[in-house]
Amino acid sequence: MTSFNDLGLNPALLTAVTAGKYTQPTPIQAQAIPPVMQGRDLLGIAQTGTGKTAAFALPILHRLAAADRRPAPKTCRALILSPTRELASQIAEKFRAYGRDMKLSVTVVFGGVGMNPQVQALARGIDVLVATPGRLMDHMQQGTLRLDAVETVVLDEADQMLDLGFVHAIKRISQALPKQRQSLFFSATMPQNIAQLAAGFLKDPVRVEVTPAATTVERIDQQVIFIEAERKRALLLEIMADPTITRALVFTRTKHGADKVARHLGGGNVPAAAIHGNKSQSQRERALADFKAGRIRVLVATDIAARGIDVTGVSHVVNFELPNVPESYVHRIGRTARAGKDGMAISLCAQDERAYLRDIEKVTRQRIPSTDRRGDEKLAAATAAEPRGENRPQQQRPHGHGQHRGNHRDGGQRNENRRGDSNGSHRSDGGQRTEGRGGQPQGAKPGQKPGGGRRFGKPQGQRSNNGGGQNRSSQRGSVH
Ligand code: AMP
Repeated sequence: MTSFNDLGLNPALLTAVTAGKYTQPTPIQAQAIPPVMQGRDLLGIAQTGTGKTAAFALPILHRLAAADRRPAPKTCRALILSPTRELASQIAEKFRAYGRDMKLSVTVVFGGVGMNPQVQALARGIDVLVATPGRLMDHMQQGTLRLDAVETVVLDEADQMLDLGFVHAIKRISQALPKQRQSLFFSATMPQNIAQLAAGFLKDPVRVEVTPAATTVERIDQQVIFIEAERKRALLLEIMADPTITRALVFTRTKHGADKVARHLGGGNVPAAAIHGNKSQSQRERALADFKAGRIRVLVATDIAARGIDVTGVSHVVNFELPNVPESYVHRIGRTARAGKDGMAISLCAQDERAYLRDIEKVTRQRIPSTDRRGDEKLAAATAAEPRGENRPQQQRPHGHGQHRGNHRDGGQRNENRRGDSNGSHRSDGGQRTEGRGGQPQGAKPGQKPGGGRRFGKPQGQRSNNGGGQNRSSQRGSVH
């Protein structure tokens, strides 16, 4: 098995990975680091959680240190494009951590914050620049940054970039890059439109694919609870009474829904915050910092806001609403099993979400065990009478998984911020698409336990592990 020592990385990087308690490279790191160190282009099919940031950051830092050139003013040597502010910040943090003993400068630029500090940082010239596309274009247009000295460019989370409407920005940025360069391209999925974008961006790339989606799903204990939509908030409070839930991410489909759920939790003495595209940068940063530090136990998030959030130790993911794009389910629950840790995912499924559940089970090729023995006769009876997956939801559902992901996402996340770096122009606000039925929750009151002390910790002997290992490409294929 490859070790970090075998890779021939700069000793300063080896010290940093050891300090970060990385004992051995993850599969994407073992496969990507050697060719990237050699200067090859790379097509990486991998999602957040696989260790892909280090897979590109380590060899980039290695090469930058080896060439030992100073960046000219208003230029950068390595450019990392990230779809969201959160992910951009995290990537920059990782570059700083891995490069802590190297004399390389790292700067991050994204929208929603003032331009001036960024302009000043860029003026000196930067070794590693992490940027969201919108703000990067602003700097290019204002002449505060040129891209003609970029040695290595990384396009991270390309599928997310396209979903967020960044395709034109990416093409414009590509045109401003030098022809002679190293290019790395990462995407969790590779439908045709992404493959086309990659083909235009890369030259003779090495292709590296890891299979996190199905693998991740298998490592996580999953439960579905059938519940009427209007009772979900009461049930969520009840779930949170379980002390084994130390750090939970709760997913809603809409921003408005996220706020409502966070308020409800707060009202029930469960410290929570919501994170989504309508929050200011400082609100988002504070919520994330509070969550990381354990000051709040629950972070309520929409899919886009949560993408790329790297918080270790998330014990539980709760799908307050099921996503109507099955891949989002895989992304969501993957937040609780980062870097080898296992976790627990609980999905609250209302009547009109049964078809979403069926699609999720199809894609993950697993049946999610249901916990509908709640001492709730009515609900149990309704569940028993109705086989899963019947009664398709009233909302329009996406068709033909995989080929037109952008449209799918649009269908599913209409109220989410359409741009990751919120320079403002493409936002669609508000929306009560799935929370409109609302009103006060009925039935179980906070703290009341109809099921009698039910626990949501890991059920003993119910692990859904299909045997470990990395090679699950057949399942991976079905996730596309
Ligand atoms: P990423 O996919 O880059 O977002 O990384 C997911 C998480 O895995 C981050 O918390 C990393 O710090 C961690 N990580 C990355 N590489 C390794 C490794 N080789 N060993 C242990 N943890 C790692």
